[in-house]
Amino acid sequence: MDWVSHAQAELRGAGYRPGAAARLVLEHLDREDCCRGAQEIFDALSTGGTKVGLASVYRMLERLDERGLVQRIDLGDGIVRYEAARDAGHHHHLVCGACGKVEPFADRRLERAIEAVEERSGYSVVAHDVVLRGACANCRD
Ligand SMILES: [Zn+2]
Ligand SMILES: [Zn+2]
Ligand SMILES: [Zn+2]
Repeated sequence: MDWVSHAQAELRGAGYRPGAAARLVLEHLDREDCCRGAQEIFDALSTGGTKVGLASVYRMLERLDERGLVQRIDLGDGIVRYEAARDAGHHHHLVCGACGKVEPFADRRLERAIEAVEERSGYSVVAHDVVLRGACANCRD
């Protein structure tokens, strides 16, 4: 089952009735390769000619977060971002403190190193975040 259908089924199971607006937010998140903030999603949907209220976008993201359907990403800049929670496409983030750009990166060796830490620690780890902060190639000098 694709992520959009899965998320809609989960929302229905939780007693919500995901309508057209919910579907648009889900489809938008599904298309994006990385995290987006509520305002950013709202702007993108509005530009595409869709009438979805900003409050609805916020509410929708909160519901998805409650059900573990999105990953909530806090990069420390005051904007809460979300991305579709899927096993495929697991990645981390590079953040430019100068222009605010957020870029995804994935690294198998980093994942293996984190798994090794989990084994040594004796913890049952359910999630991890890695954020690299600094200045992007355009902003660095
Ligand atoms: Zn991301
Ligand atoms: Zn930058
Ligand atoms: Zn990872």
